[in-house]
Amino acid sequence: MAWMSTAKPSSRDKLTPVRRQYLRIKQRYPDTLLLFRMGDFYETFDEDAHTASQALDIALTSRSMGKGSPVPLAGVPAHSLEPYLARLIKAGYKVAICEQLSDPAASKGIVDRDVVRVVTPGTVVEPSLLEQKANNYLVALMPDGPQVGLAYVDITTGEFCATQLPSTELGLELTRLAPAEALAPEGVEPEGMNGCPVTPMSASVFREETASRILMDHFGVASLEAYGCTDLPLAVGAAGAILDYLSQTQKGALKELRTLSAYSTASYMTLDTQTRRNLELFQGGRWGNSDASLYNTLDLTRTPMGGRLLRRWMGQPLRELEPLVQRQDSVGWFHDNMLERERASALLSRIGDLERTVGRVRLGTAVPRELLGLANGLKASLELVNGLAGGDQLAWLLEGLESSKKPCEEAVELISRAVKDDPVGEPGDGGVVREGFSPELDELRQASGNAREYIAGLERKEREATGIKNLKVGYNKVFGYYIEVTNANLPMAPETYTRRQTLVGGERFITPELKEYESRILGARERIEELEKALYRQLCAQIGEQSWAVSALGEAVAHLDVFHSLGEAAVRHDYVRPELNEGMDISIKAGRHPVVERTLPPGSFVANDTYTSSEDSQVLIITGPNMAGKSTYIRQTALIVLMAQMGSFVPADSAVIGLVDRIFTRLGLQDDLSTGQSTFMVEMVETAAILNQATPRSLVILDEIGRGTSTYDGLSIAKAVVEHLHNHPRLGCKTLFATHYHELTELAETLPRVKNYSVAVSEEDGQVVFLHRIEPGRADKSYGIHVARLAGMPQAVVNRAWEELDDLERQDQSNARGPMAHAGFQMPLFGGEAPNQAVMDELLEMDVSTMTPLAAINALYRLQRQAEGVSDPEDDSSTP
Ligand code: ATP
Repeated sequence: MAWMSTAKPSSRDKLTPVRRQYLRIKQRYPDTLLLFRMGDFYETFDEDAHTASQALDIALTSRSMGKGSPVPLAGVPAHSLEPYLARLIKAGYKVAICEQLSDPAASKGIVDRDVVRVVTPGTVVEPSLLEQKANNYLVALMPDGPQVGLAYVDITTGEFCATQLPSTELGLELTRLAPAEALAPEGVEPEGMNGCPVTPMSASVFREETASRILMDHFGVASLEAYGCTDLPLAVGAAGAILDYLSQTQKGALKELRTLSAYSTASYMTLDTQTRRNLELFQGGRWGNSDASLYNTLDLTRTPMGGRLLRRWMGQPLRELEPLVQRQDSVGWFHDNMLERERASALLSRIGDLERTVGRVRLGTAVPRELLGLANGLKASLELVNGLAGGDQLAWLLEGLESSKKPCEEAVELISRAVKDDPVGEPGDGGVVREGFSPELDELRQASGNAREYIAGLERKEREATGIKNLKVGYNKVFGYYIEVTNANLPMAPETYTRRQTLVGGERFITPELKEYESRILGARERIEELEKALYRQLCAQIGEQSWAVSALGEAVAHLDVFHSLGEAAVRHDYVRPELNEGMDISIKAGRHPVVERTLPPGSFVANDTYTSSEDSQVLIITGPNMAGKSTYIRQTALIVLMAQMGSFVPADSAVIGLVDRIFTRLGLQDDLSTGQSTFMVEMVETAAILNQATPRSLVILDEIGRGTSTYDGLSIAKAVVEHLHNHPRLGCKTLFATHYHELTELAETLPRVKNYSVAVSEEDGQVVFLHRIEPGRADKSYGIHVARLAGMPQAVVNRAWEELDDLERQDQSNARGPMAHAGFQMPLFGGEAPNQAVMDELLEMDVSTMTPLAAINALYRLQRQAEGVSDPEDDSSTP
């Protein structure tokens, strides 16, 4: 950079001390934009000033800082740093924040300065840069052949976890975490980052020995055994790299990381990107309302911490029975106790974000109102957990909390004692610390107050003493307090007045007494400022010391909030507790789609049963007209299973769910524009992934596969897929397949675990009524043209379509021995009875054992003609 070359050591001597200090610091942070605190501003210099002025739309000026040409400069006011920081981070910059570390007034020479934080996308703590109900993760990746170590941290909440997993599963885990920033060893370009910025780090910190040393030093332990990662060298490497990065960028945040949780992706249900999207877990859209997601349906959380936990549970359903039953018990407790639910709801609403606020308090960036908010939140949290002690179902959660309560109570007491109820301005302005908290501060306030009172009374006193009726006592920044006398009254001014300033209409004087009181006021004001700032810093530090307890309470509150939310949702939306087991069946009575039912008038959603089992009812083929509700039905089954495995109650009259290891979905026709793949290619890639990865414990939801290509190809593929799912010994996965290929229903005749279902429709006077009821058996018609009419197609087009359909059906009958026959099954494009059904029926009705050979030959001949579509004039008299 240009400024570096001009700052050779020899020329440095000619620079101002501040400039030299700046260059020294900047040299350590070459890849960041350095915000250098100078009084009330954060300044940027040189190249950084150009960048900042453009990125932030602020004026670019210059300042002389020693010999040589003036230095480019652009600055932002310190009190409004946050929005500027937000813009820089969003624009992709890393920002180093350099603070003044010593008091300018007390410093001899220049003020000490150093970088206290480097802000990167994965390490922001500013509320405006964070989504309230989502985590902000920094991940580290340590790939090694077929395995990869992954660690992640949210420094705003202290969550710090690590795992080791097959490289093939990395993409899925990254999808779940949606990290804001990733760390990787230099030279390694991890795949599947999906636009997330990757910061390279020296490969040496990822090495197990180095990383475990970093971790052990940080936690102050001699072994990592307690964290469950002794056999996970790659996970240790990644976790160590995270700590190393934070020690360089966020020294303050390290304290917040008190434990590392090793986890295994095997304990969770895997949900790939398509499944999250197809099932509209976090983002709706298919139902025309972008808020209509499962998350929005279940999210009745009252705290951001609860919101974040619910999101985690939804993205990471469990596969283990025991913790699920524990969650169900807790949800059930809220579900069954209306009064407790209402009490909890009121208290939860007062709690706020304990996790993130205490982080900001510890960093010293919290404003007085946030401290008060923390105290109120802690108070409400304590009231909540203390009041719940009677609930056995929650005992597991509350038991571990005892040691945290006292420090939290002390924090509440300390904040309430220290901070005014309605703090004014910033610490140092004098309006933050409460009377009675610091005797020294009170004394100073008293002294300053007395002096002010004295001066306020002085005007009256001096008027009486001098007889000057319009004598005034005033104050300005240059001369301080003064006594002002107009020209007409000057002769009456006593000799003890010393002249300070001459005005057009009069003179300003001071007296020794006035100056003495003035210095008392000013001295006190300065001391008050210093003292209040120091007291506030100390207060934040003291609370920060107890942040472990606040975080523990916060975590318990987050759990309670989620249990309360799921309990409340269950009551509001009429859900039941599903019975979970480790069997291979899913049996749902009167199941409903949790999101679609909310978009319809109350009571109008038609509930349906589902029974699927790897043993006898493995593949359900669901046929029915467009718009009948096939997609809704198969999605609702997947959603009910997913909700059950979050620990939630489900929209049904009853449900028995054999735990599922994974939900796969291949739904609808979607182009993946981001990868430039065609619709059909996407469809095939996704279907291939399912066939390669599903297990007998998986649930597979397929909607219309094969539709992206020609009818024959599509149908052949669809059929082969079903056969494979059914016959392959490794698969046997429960599958719901909605399709328009009515021919697939024939598979039920040859494959014992394939079952046909259809969506009922009634037809009255040519009008189609969708009943949305799922019934055993296959559909007989498509009703596509009915739907086209309902969609508002011009009548002429609809009429023409009916004519075309007639033609095609007629042709189809006459082609019954055409190419369809070679495909090995029938192909009625628009539904309707198969052309040779009559032949089949007659064949089945014949009593061959009583027929004469001639009658049999005649019948065979006639049936053949009939199958060829040739009407036989002798038809009626064919029986010999
Ligand atoms: P297509 O084959 O055209 O994709 P589909 O059979 O998959 O149609 P859906 O998209 O599932 O049909 O449903 C269409 C509409 O029908 C839904 O938007 C919803 O309004 C309504 N619907 C679906 N299922 C039900 C139900 N069980 N009860 C009431 N309304 C329903």
